[in-house]
Amino acid sequence: MKNIFIAGSTGSVGKSAVEVALLYPEKLSVKAIAAGHFTEELKRQIIKLNPSYCILSLKTEMDNAKSETSGLTGIKTKFLCGEDGFSELISNENLDIILNAISGSSGLMLSYLGLKAGKNLALANKESIVMAGDILNRVAKFNKADIIPVDSEHSALFQCLNCGNKPDLKKLILTASGGPFYDLQNGAFTGVTRDMALNHPKWKMGKKITIDSSTLANKGLEIIEAHYLFDVDEKDIEVLIHPQAVVHSMVEFMDGSVIAQMAQADIKGPIGYALSYPDRFHGLMEPLNFAQIGRLEFLEPDTQKFPFLNLAREALRVGRSMPAVFCEANEFFVKAFLENKISFTGAG
Ligand code: MN
Repeated sequence: MKNIFIAGSTGSVGKSAVEVALLYPEKLSVKAIAAGHFTEELKRQIIKLNPSYCILSLKTEMDNAKSETSGLTGIKTKFLCGEDGFSELISNENLDIILNAISGSSGLMLSYLGLKAGKNLALANKESIVMAGDILNRVAKFNKADIIPVDSEHSALFQCLNCGNKPDLKKLILTASGGPFYDLQNGAFTGVTRDMALNHPKWKMGKKITIDSSTLANKGLEIIEAHYLFDVDEKDIEVLIHPQAVVHSMVEFMDGSVIAQMAQADIKGPIGYALSYPDRFHGLMEPLNFAQIGRLEFLEPDTQKFPFLNLAREALRVGRSMPAVFCEANEFFVKAFLENKISFTGAG
């Protein structure tokens, strides 16, 4: 039995993680959950999971959660808030894995606090590792904690890398479904609306990452994420557009062999793998039907049309805090776009 803490439990990945935990109650016990705001979804999770702790971002949200759940019978959940709440939880509760599914750069502090306490980190919050990869790697190593990726591509790479040794590794091949606009003509980007960008063809995800997928900023962040997770040089990380989203990434070894990880485009796969590693949960996903899929395509991304790919590589080459700047600048403009303050191409 593994004791887990699901942070960002009401977001897209968090909700899937709760589903996985409820599917394997003999393997996983949810000891704590955390969310930015008190919502009906959070209340349902408290009733279903009866966690020892529930952490909210702010005191006002925590007070609201307390009063909204005070009438429930049999609920023994203790409410905490903010970073102090994370620290109190981590030192009081016997946690085996922290699943960090907080959205955006605000997830960084939990990754740091968890690793510092020697807790294994199932990492869905790629911004943590993009902003502070060097620091988190050092803290993890020093405290003997593992970082297991939950991002589907990096989960795939993590699985493929088990087929060989580091000196025999040639390159990583990150696949990208391409989002909704990979075949759009360059000039047509000015007409892209918020709703068009939020309509991802393959993955159902939160708003921030869906916009990032439409600009390929997400793949830029993932190049940086792969660099820090697997210690591979930027020039040995290739990106390929793969519209079917069946191959979640590949690893090429020095002998010319390429290992690919394939599965349904279902985030429960990477979540389940990170929580069951090194074992696997039986019956987690629907199996693939290759005859029905028919064919798999791979295309070179157009880096003129999607400049974020090269910007991310440039940020990585500059190093130091530049990946954090790339990450924050992107987050700032995604928020402005979602609030209808700027257009897709950046005009005010
Ligand atoms: Mn991904």
